[in-house]
Amino acid sequence: MKILCAWCVKEGKPGLMGEGPPLDDPTETHGICPEHRLQVEVELTRTAEEAERFRKEAEELRKMVDP
Ligand SMILES: [Zn+2]
Repeated sequence: MKILCAWCVKEGKPGLMGEGPPLDDPTETHGICPEHRLQVEVELTRTAEEAERFRKEAEELRKMVDP
């Protein structure tokens, strides 16, 4: 079975990462290539940092309203 990177496929790239068992099965399965895995991790980290910043800002605003 063929293993394709779902992100590469979405970008119109072949995204073929290799083949897994059963080798005679032409079915395609999706995974994520190292390049896109890194990209997704960076994206998630950034989102977490933004969430933390918003949380702190909200806290500051609350202190201003109700010290
Ligand atoms: Zn990819």
